[in-house]
Amino acid sequence: MPPEVKPAQLRVRLPFATEAELAEGFGGHLSRTGVFVPTESPRPVGSWIAFEICLSTGEVVLRGDATVARSQRAAPGLRAGMALRFLGVDGESRERLERICAPPPTAADDWVLGIDFGTTGVRVALVRADRPEVVRLGREAVLPAVVAIDDQGRLLVGARARALEVERPERVVAGAKRWVGRRFDLAVGRRAAFALTHDERDEIAADLGGEPFSMTRACAELLRQARQLAQETLGTQLLRAVIGVPAYFNERQRAALRRAAHQAGLTVEQIVGEPTAAAVAFAAGKRLPRRRLLVLDLGGGTFDATVLEIEGDEIDVVATGGDTFLGGADFDARLSNLLAERFEEMEGLSLADDAIAQQRLRLAAETAKVALSSKERTEVALPFIGTRDGAPVDLRLTLERAEVEALCSDLVDQAVAIAREVLAAVRLSPRDVDTLLLAGGMTQMPAVRRAFTEAFGKNGTADVDPGTAVAFGAALLGASARGDERSLGLRELLGATLSVQLPDGKLRPVFGRHTPLPAERRLDVQAPPGARELRVPVYQGKGEDAAKDDFLGALELRDLPAGPGPMARAVLTFYLSADGILRVHARAGSIERSVELATSRGSTLPVGVVVEEAPAEPDAARTAV
Ligand code: ADP
Ligand code: MG
Repeated sequence: MPPEVKPAQLRVRLPFATEAELAEGFGGHLSRTGVFVPTESPRPVGSWIAFEICLSTGEVVLRGDATVARSQRAAPGLRAGMALRFLGVDGESRERLERICAPPPTAADDWVLGIDFGTTGVRVALVRADRPEVVRLGREAVLPAVVAIDDQGRLLVGARARALEVERPERVVAGAKRWVGRRFDLAVGRRAAFALTHDERDEIAADLGGEPFSMTRACAELLRQARQLAQETLGTQLLRAVIGVPAYFNERQRAALRRAAHQAGLTVEQIVGEPTAAAVAFAAGKRLPRRRLLVLDLGGGTFDATVLEIEGDEIDVVATGGDTFLGGADFDARLSNLLAERFEEMEGLSLADDAIAQQRLRLAAETAKVALSSKERTEVALPFIGTRDGAPVDLRLTLERAEVEALCSDLVDQAVAIAREVLAAVRLSPRDVDTLLLAGGMTQMPAVRRAFTEAFGKNGTADVDPGTAVAFGAALLGASARGDERSLGLRELLGATLSVQLPDGKLRPVFGRHTPLPAERRLDVQAPPGARELRVPVYQGKGEDAAKDDFLGALELRDLPAGPGPMARAVLTFYLSADGILRVHARAGSIERSVELATSRGSTLPVGVVVEEAPAEPDAARTAV
C-alpha cells in the first residue's frame, strides 16, 4: 500500500487586526483562485498544503488547501514567498474572498471611473470590492493637465506636453480647465502663456499656430489620455465616468466639460461638485450623525468653499462659492516675480522679455513653494537664466518660508474671506462648522492650513487625503450609479444665479444662487408689441447686470403667432438637472407646442432655437446659431 499522502500544515499570521485592514494591506496578494504568502522559506512547487491565514488577533480568515504554484526567492524589488493555488476553501473563506477581491468586470462598460479633473492634474479612481482606489495613469498617479502641439504639428498630452513648456510655452496649453466654457470677450485682460483666440462658439481657444485649439478639445485630449492609460492599467475598456468640477462652475463650463468627455469616448454619469465629492469620500460608510462640513479646496487654479450637511448617506450642499482664478498658480506667479526681481537687483539684468526664462522661473517657483511646505528655507538655482555680454549668468538664491508667506498672505486672506462670505451667505458663523475638510494640494502649505485653522477654529479632518478626496468621492458616486452600492442621497446647489434678459434689457433671475438641484421654473415672456420674434438671452452670474454675467446662450423664437392679444408671448420652462445642466422648454402661440432646447443628456445649451410655425414632428425644432 502506498504511504498515505498528507498535506503540510501552514499557519500564517498577518499583521492586520480586521478584515478591512487585511483587504487594504494584503488585498493585492489575494485573488479568488489563490494567495501569495510572503515567507523566507517557500515550499517546493507542487507541494500540497493545508493552510490557515489568521489576523493578528488569531482569528482565522481563510482556511483551505492548496498547491504551491510558484515559489519566489527574494530579489531586488521582489519579496520572497510562494504563490498558492487554491484546491478548496471553506464556505466562510469563499464569502470573504468575494468581499475582498475585486469582482471581475462583467461587461466592458460596467466600470464607472471617478475623475478628478484638476486644473493642474487629472486623477482617476475606481471602486472595487467596495473601496475606492487610485487608478495609475502610466507610471504616475496624476496626469499633468497639459496639452501641446509641437513644431511638427503633433499633439502631446501630459508629461510630454509639460516638457515642452520651457522651450515653447506658446505651443502649450496648461490648465485648460481654467478656460473651458468661458466666453472669449470676458477673458480680456487675463494672461495665458499661449495666445488667446476664440473657437466657433466664441469660447476661449488657444492659438497654437493652425486652427484655434479649443479648450474643450484640450480637455477632451486630457480625458482621452487619462481614459486610455486607465484602460491599460485595468486591462478593460472604460466607457463611463463621474467627473468632479468646481462647485462654482457655471452651466456653460459644465456643459463644455461634458462635451469634452463625450469626445474622449466617455459617457458622463454625473458631473459632481468637487466639494460634494470630497464630502462623499469623507462620509461614505460612516453613518454619521447630522453634522455641518466646510470643505475648503485650494488647488492649482481654483478655490472652492462649500458648506455641506451630512447625515448618514445624505449629503446636502447648503452654500457654495469660490473663485475660479485663485490657486497655486497665483502663488507661483508671485514667487516667480520675486525671483526675477531679486535677479535684477543682484545682476542688473531684466528677464521680463525672455519667455523661456519666465517659464523656468515659474517652474522653479512652484518647486520652491512645495519645498517650503516641509522646510524653512530652500535654494533656487537656475543656471544660464540670463546673459551679459554673451556670457551666461546664473540665478542662485535662498528663499525663506517666512518671506514667501508674507508675499502671498493676501492670497491666503482672499481665500479666507471667500470662505467667510460663503458661510455668511447662509447666516452661519465659523462656530457652526462641525468639521473642516481641506482638499487641494495648496492646503499642504503651512500658512494656508494655519489661516484656515485660525479662521474656523478647528484643524482639517485627517480622515481624507486632500490629494485623493475628489477622485475617491467621484468613484464612490460612480459605483452608486452602477447600482452596486447603496445609493447616496446628494443634493447640489446652483453656484450662481441664472437669469434671462427681457426685451427691456433688464435681467430677470430665473433660479437664484443656492437653488437646490434639480429645479424647474416657468416664466412668461412677452414680446414687444407687434413683434413676431422673441430673443431671450440666458445669463449666469450675479443676475444684476448682463454685461458682467456669463452669457450661456439665447433662446430664439421666430414666427410667433400673434396670439389672442397684440403681444406675442411665450411660456418658457427651465429645467436644471441634478448635475446642473440647463434645459429650456418653450411654448408659444395659441396652438401649444413645445420645443426642447438641449435635448440629449450631455448636449450643450444650444445657442438658439427656432420654433417653426407648423412643425410636422415634435422634434422639428432646429437649433440655429
Ligand atoms: P488641481 O486639483 O487644481 O489640479 P491640486 O489640488 O492637485 O490642484 O493642487 C495643485 C497645487 O498644489 C499646485 O499649485 C501645486 O504646486 C500645489 N502643491 C502640491 N503639493 C504641495 C505642497 N506640498 N505644498 C504646497 N503646494 C503644493
Ligand atoms: Mg482639485
